[in-house]
Amino acid sequence: MMTFVVPPLETVTVPVASSTDLFPVRRIFCVGRNYSDHVKEMGGDPERNPPFFFSKPADAIVPSGATVRYPTLTKEFHYEIELVVAIGKPAFQISPEEANNHIYGYAVGIDLTRRDIQMAALKAGLPWDFGKAFDESAPCAPIHPISQTGVIEDARIWLKVNGETKQDARTADLIWSVPELLSTLSHGIALKPGDLVYTGTPAGVAAIVTGDRIEGGVEGLGDIEITIGAGY
Ligand code: MN
Repeated sequence: MMTFVVPPLETVTVPVASSTDLFPVRRIFCVGRNYSDHVKEMGGDPERNPPFFFSKPADAIVPSGATVRYPTLTKEFHYEIELVVAIGKPAFQISPEEANNHIYGYAVGIDLTRRDIQMAALKAGLPWDFGKAFDESAPCAPIHPISQTGVIEDARIWLKVNGETKQDARTADLIWSVPELLSTLSHGIALKPGDLVYTGTPAGVAAIVTGDRIEGGVEGLGDIEITIGAGY
């Protein structure tokens, strides 16, 4: 009999809203610099440059309501509220016009970032991974099927820290729309059911510390809430 020599990866899941169903997470793709006000606050060029992507491991997912441990290596731990798209059907070399047919649903997510590590890597021309792809870096609220929400084009997206509004924008302000993002991504890799795409954050990112309570939402998709716990 064949046996695994170490425990095999457990399937990471995100609940489907208002049901007992689960969405199995395959990969997490994230989009950088996709709201012009955020590009400006990061010191970037607000011109419409082609979208670019980075990844997080599937097991970086944490559910809404969780306490996220303050990560190692950073003194500048940032939140980024984002509209998350859950892929339901394989998508390879698709056009923007076809893209919505490949979506299973949408969720509210937070792209947690070790900003100091990310910026140091950026400056040195090194990969972003240690700034972005660490444990517990991808909080994600339950997924709402597109069959119930319809296509989301212009919804309010917001985030509060300890009750104070820090991010407040509209998804219509995405530099690259969801269909454009999925089309571009699908020309570089074959998107598969279970993939999640974090679509970028609006302006207002800042550092958070142990004890902070983060709440955010996207109109029509409910809220996400996390607390920042002690470090490791
Ligand atoms: Mn982000």
